[in-house]
Amino acid sequence: MGGIRHLWTVGVGLWAIALGGCMELLPAPTLPTPPAAQSQSLPPCVDDDCNCGDFRDRALAQQVLDAFEGDPFVLDQDGNGMACESLPDSAPPLDPTAPPSSSPHLALGNPSNAATANPNNLLIERSQYALSYNRDRGTANWVSWQLSDRWLGNTPRQDNFRQDGGLPAGFYQVTPNDYRGSGYDRGHMVPSGDRTASVSDNSATFLMTNIIPQAPDNNRGTWRELEEYARSLISEQRDRELIIIAGAYGTQNTLANGRVTIPSRLWKVIVLLDQPGAGVAGVSANSRIIAVDMPNTNDLSANWRDYQTSVDRIEVATGYDLLAPVPVAIQAELEARVSAE
Ligand code: MN
Ligand code: MN
Repeated sequence: MGGIRHLWTVGVGLWAIALGGCMELLPAPTLPTPPAAQSQSLPPCVDDDCNCGDFRDRALAQQVLDAFEGDPFVLDQDGNGMACESLPDSAPPLDPTAPPSSSPHLALGNPSNAATANPNNLLIERSQYALSYNRDRGTANWVSWQLSDRWLGNTPRQDNFRQDGGLPAGFYQVTPNDYRGSGYDRGHMVPSGDRTASVSDNSATFLMTNIIPQAPDNNRGTWRELEEYARSLISEQRDRELIIIAGAYGTQNTLANGRVTIPSRLWKVIVLLDQPGAGVAGVSANSRIIAVDMPNTNDLSANWRDYQTSVDRIEVATGYDLLAPVPVAIQAELEARVSAE
């Protein structure tokens, strides 16, 4: 148990030793807060939970380095003015627009244009959800699903974690045992509790393509509370419909000899449709929307509301275009808003 966490602790310990000589003479650094408008457009490092693994490319890390005087996040370890030089310079361009889908789970779009050509942006559509799978990370990039009364019933949790035999030939099929002893939970993207209308619906959430390595306190605490909050929106008014898109990015470590990446950040966008069943036409500038982006760690706030953010900021961090089918003017208004539940 706890192998990865142990390694991480050793790593931090070495850092402390390496820095100890100069750090003990200096007062603890205070982190400057950027102007609100600026932090909204900045990539993830706007709080003290930050390192190079939070960024998908060097250009994003450089934006943060340039925005904070004195490099409080230690993104420029060799002091040459360049942030996180081990990251790729810039993210690869988004894949070409994917063919349209009639899946209700993709009513608010396919954020990365997932399709069949790119093994690291492979579209998997099931009757229960749709996702973009990343072969090299061994996890989904994002998962999108509809949540309404129609998906909720009395089926008990099946707990049948298993490899996804539906992956293309040549893909490594992640197994439940790959997470064993890592200190990370097998965390659902589509929660088991969102698919309780039938045994087959619930079982679909236990395929390992719907699972990410998730810090236990995040999975069982903060993230679970948000999952329950989303379901409570349905239980308080049974004719509602939500579209939920959740994903992971950044790298803090790997499992299973590098076959599974442990993401450093988890995000989720929940849209409450004004008109259930109307698809994208059910979205207006006044639609209720919840967006969060949180660290995949144990030392996080128990309150998911502390991690509310804007869709714009998630788009900066991930490079995706969320809510793309929504008319541009409405999209701009919705995406700039920081949810305040
Ligand atoms: Mn979970
Ligand atoms: Mn967008």
